[in-house]
Amino acid sequence: METFRPGPLLRPAAWVQVLVDAPARERTYTYRLADGMTAAGGDVVCVPFGSQLVGGIVLGCLDQLPTGLDPGRLKTVESVVGTGLFAPGFWPLLVRVADYYLVPLARVLETALPPGILSRARRRVRLVADAAPMAQWGLSAAAKSAFDFLRSQAHADFSWRFCVQRLSGGVSSLRELQARRLLESYYVFGETARPRTQQFVVLAGAGADLCGRSAAVVQCLRRLGGEVSVEQLLAEARTTRALLQKLDAGGHVRIYERQILRLAAPTASADAPKLLTDAQKQVLDRLQGATPGPVLLEGVTGSGKTEVYLQAIAPVLDRGESALVLVPEIGLTPQLTDRFAARFGARVRVYHSALSEGERFDCWRQMLTGEAQVVVGTRSAVFAPLPKLGLIVLDEEHDGSYKQDRPAPCYHARTVALWRGELAGCPVLLGSATPDLESFDRATAGRYLHLEMPERVAGRPLPAVEVVDMREELNRGNFTPFSATLQRAVAEMHGAGRQGILFINRRGYSTFVLCRNCGETLRCPHCAVSLTYHRLEAGDHLRCHYCNHGAPQPRACPHCTSPNLRYFGAGTQRIAAQLSEQFPTLRVLRFDRDTTARKDAHRQILEQFGRGEADVLVGTQMLTKGLDLPQVTLVGILAADGLLNLPDFRASERAFQLLTQVAGRAGRGSEPGRVILQTYAPEHPVVEAASTHDFRRYAAAELTQRRALGYPPFVQLVALQLSAAEQQSVVESAEALARRLDGSADFEGRLLGPAPCTVERVAGRYRWQLLIKNPNGEAGRASLRALLTQFVPCAGVTVAVDVDPLRLL
Ligand code: ADP
Ligand code: ZN
Ligand code: ZN
Repeated sequence: METFRPGPLLRPAAWVQVLVDAPARERTYTYRLADGMTAAGGDVVCVPFGSQLVGGIVLGCLDQLPTGLDPGRLKTVESVVGTGLFAPGFWPLLVRVADYYLVPLARVLETALPPGILSRARRRVRLVADAAPMAQWGLSAAAKSAFDFLRSQAHADFSWRFCVQRLSGGVSSLRELQARRLLESYYVFGETARPRTQQFVVLAGAGADLCGRSAAVVQCLRRLGGEVSVEQLLAEARTTRALLQKLDAGGHVRIYERQILRLAAPTASADAPKLLTDAQKQVLDRLQGATPGPVLLEGVTGSGKTEVYLQAIAPVLDRGESALVLVPEIGLTPQLTDRFAARFGARVRVYHSALSEGERFDCWRQMLTGEAQVVVGTRSAVFAPLPKLGLIVLDEEHDGSYKQDRPAPCYHARTVALWRGELAGCPVLLGSATPDLESFDRATAGRYLHLEMPERVAGRPLPAVEVVDMREELNRGNFTPFSATLQRAVAEMHGAGRQGILFINRRGYSTFVLCRNCGETLRCPHCAVSLTYHRLEAGDHLRCHYCNHGAPQPRACPHCTSPNLRYFGAGTQRIAAQLSEQFPTLRVLRFDRDTTARKDAHRQILEQFGRGEADVLVGTQMLTKGLDLPQVTLVGILAADGLLNLPDFRASERAFQLLTQVAGRAGRGSEPGRVILQTYAPEHPVVEAASTHDFRRYAAAELTQRRALGYPPFVQLVALQLSAAEQQSVVESAEALARRLDGSADFEGRLLGPAPCTVERVAGRYRWQLLIKNPNGEAGRASLRALLTQFVPCAGVTVAVDVDPLRLL
């Protein structure tokens, strides 16, 4: 871990740490500052790297060299190019993230900046307009002639490359003129003129003489209409580039490049502000009247939170400021993005990590120049460099996807958004029907402005939730996943021509495969979990949901060779199949990670459903994230139990959120909704609270328990995860680390573990975990930082730090 002082210095420092723009594994290096040169964190510099000069970002200044570094061997910063990569107030935010999440600042920059930003930025120089005439005295002959040449030009702004090539004395003249303050250099984000192309594949031959995989791929291409992007075909046919190239060489298909437009500005028809309900109006009034700070908007599902966001943003834009809107997952909320685009037009940009490098760079540049005034994005968009930020909105603020698991920093976008709001002096609006307990606790304690919308718009009722005891179904001899009540409800819904949603928390066909002869389950060779059975057109398939290892379905048990394999546990695929079997006229669509792997697949499925081309949507948690489908009157939750019994203190909070959110998809239109919640534990408090839409009661009970047991939000947790290919070294390192922590006064008696993670081996690596309860805030983190800096694990062991972990592994 680095030790440095970020920010400007009183006394010029002698060394700087620089994140270099080079494809090296370790990218942070120490450089010497030449006499008289000053630099501060966030400055862009030019430094020698290998045999060339590269761009870099100053991470911080050092008064003292780390031990072991020989000052004589350090290279010198070539020049300080200036600032301009960051909006004001942005650098302190990055420093704060690094500090809080116990990671080097370089890691934060790598997360926050679009990849390759420095190499895409161009270095330029310009004449200093009000340079002192005296500054020219005593210039070298070369520099003098270079200066005169530049002044004789019609403009005062030049590319660095042009100057180096054309000026007498080249780089040394440039340096001299810069030192005299006659010339200054800076970075711009060049236009990326390079058009983007995408590979497409088109059917060329009849494919008659093909067999096996090749025939299947050609058949798949034909089914898709004969011409699709290579990416799509790879995903749909589950094949490889190599095979496509072979087919191309054989004349069966043709692969070609097609130009595509980058960042087609979101198109949507215009949308006028809605007449606000009383509740919405009150919320907006209080929001406008409040001093900037965090705001929790607790509004039940369907209470019209989106309209509040839109109308809160409008005046911000009118003032010439910008707004940042964070959503859990962009693909899952195409409707939301569309509404923003429809309301605010060309000022809206969508920013998330699934964009291409070029798209991200373009968007970043447009944000800095103010062309993009509203940015809708996922987690990483919390670092969007919007100047003059006037409002931050976090929709579904309870959602776990705001937390980054890997790689470090394991930041939470909500936490970072609150800091950003503080630095920018703007409100941060957190919206949810099921607020995170930490947010809720702070709001009720008066630390956040707490606003409520307890009713749905237009007096629509919240859907009635019927809890069905699945034990009784079994007793009555019903072995299907659908209770009699649900079956009747589906038939009724279908008869009335309405739509429904079925929620199941696992994807795939069967969640595990067991040998009836020897009792072994089929396991992933790289992970300590069972494989999930998927049925695919290309053949049946086993897949690991941890490392994505795939294998064809074996005909016999690999342990005892018995053919007697059985499939247990239903996933989305099986539910969809069984539903179609039972209701042959019902048109079923599946909505999970498998069916939405293609780009834009989320939108396509939702639009298809929205147009009424299917009757039922069967899906996983994806369904819970803010879908607004007014025609849906029935929601079935197939097995709530899978959610309730996870080994994590947050399991019940997540279950409550999930059940409430999925139930909230019903009855959002003019017809009232109905929810059927199937469970083997109808008396479970979470089931009771979710079935009565009683967030407050649930929150009070859960918070009491958390306080008693010393869990967040009352104490901070820090998880240290150790992993390695070798089990022995992980265990030894974990125990050594635990001894260190035990010896520290700050954490004494507050250490849980070390223990193997719930799934001890993933992708061939063993994982152990230590959980620290830190009641001392910053002081506790500081001593942890110091301890971790000194700790050296066994060879091959990595230690990952997760501050405020959301999921205990
Ligand atoms: P939430 O995000 O709180 O679950 P939405 O913002 O999706 O709710 O709103 C639910 C539904 O109510 C949407 O279909 C929306 O178009 C509609 N709606 C919201 N506000 C109003 C309003 N003021 N007048 C009429 N309809 C509204
Ligand atoms: Zn067997
Ligand atoms: Zn695996």
